[in-house]
Formats: sequence, C-alpha cells, structure tokens
Amino acid sequence: MIKDLLNYQQADAKLRKIEVELSSSTARKKAASARVYIEGVNENVNKLDDKAGHLAQESQNIADQCKNLSEQLSELERAIAGADDVNQINFYIKKAEDLIAQIKSLSASLNKNGDESQKVVKEYSTIKAQTKNAQAQYAESKEEYDKLKASFKQEMDDINKELESLKKSVDATLMEKYQKKRANKIFPIVYPVTSGVCGYCRMELSMLELNKLKNGEIIECDQCGSILYQE
Ligand SMILES: [Zn+2]
Repeated sequence: MIKDLLNYQQADAKLRKIEVELSSSTARKKAASARVYIEGVNENVNKLDDKAGHLAQESQNIADQCKNLSEQLSELERAIAGADDVNQINFYIKKAEDLIAQIKSLSASLNKNGDESQKVVKEYSTIKAQTKNAQAQYAESKEEYDKLKASFKQEMDDINKELESLKKSVDATLMEKYQKKRANKIFPIVYPVTSGVCGYCRMELSMLELNKLKNGEIIECDQCGSILYQE
C-alpha cells in the first residue's frame, strides 16, 4: 500500500521541483510585488483625499474667521473716526490692535495649510508615477513568467500523465490525505519512521502509534502532519 504512494511521491517530486523553480523565479517575485503595490494604491489615494478634504475645510474656516475679524476692524475704524473722548479712542485702538494680532496669527495658519496642501499635491504625483512604474513592472514580469511557465509545459504535462496513471494503484483515502497536504505546499509528505521518531520532525511517537505502525498501518504525525510508515 505504502509502496504505491512512495512511487507516486517520487514522480510528484519532479513536479514539485518545477513548481518551486517557478514560484521562486525573479519574474514571479517582481510581478507579485508590483501587484501588491497596485492593490494598495486605492487605499493610499483615499487617505490623501481625506487629508486634502480636511485641509480645504480648515482653510475655508480660517478664511471665514479672517473675514469676520476684518469686518469688526472696519467697524472699529469708523468708531474711532466718530469718537471724541480720548479714553474711548484709546480703548478702541487697543481693541483694533488685538484684532490685527488675531488676523496675523490666522493668516500664518493659512500659509501653513497652503504648504501642507502643496505636500499633498506632491504625494499625489509621486503615487501616480509609482503606479505607472508598478504597472509596467507587472506587465513585463508577467510576460516573462508566462514564458518561463510555458517552457515547462511539456514536462509538466508528461509528469501529470505519469501521476494520473500511478494514482490508480494508490488507496483512495490515503491519496486524498496526501493531496490535501500537497495543496498546502507541504513536501515531501510521506516519511519512514526510524528509531521510533517521525522521519521529518523527529517527534517521538507513542506506544500506541508504534504498535499501529508495526501492524502495517499508516499514520499521520501529530506535530508536522507527515504521513508515516514503518520501513
Ligand atoms: Zn512529524
């Protein structure tokens, strides 16, 4: 029973080797990193949109306050022109100076906001340029990767045919277990037990498990999930 699965695994190893070569290829890594960037662009643009909206709202508020203070200042100027009491005039002047100081401080804030907005505009154009680069990198690497994959096609087809034929001799339940682990990119999957420990992770097996193995049963390692058999 285990012999057939071992034969299957041996042929499967050739497929696994190609898969590893493909997935660790520079072309695939470049395409993957470009895709991650492109997928993240929307979120970055949304954050910038929020920041720009917030800055615009803040600038509008400051401008409104400035307008209001300027109106108060004009009223004071008229009051000063119409007043004849020195104490009253001094009081108005003091108030006017206070208003002017407030307007100055607000206009400094407005300038600061303007600088921030400039930064946001710069960030927008950086993102735009980087997205363009990422799109070009993705297209180029994807094409390169597809070519690499195509170069293995015949070999992979042959191995898959061989696997299909070997599969027929393997116990169906065992095959299902094997395929599940294989899908999780575990490889190799089947190991012999030597000196009472798992052939892969070296975990010590219980008496019960060892007895099962002695009786010719096939078990799975509790720790690493390998399929185990007694040689
Ligand atoms: Zn193990």
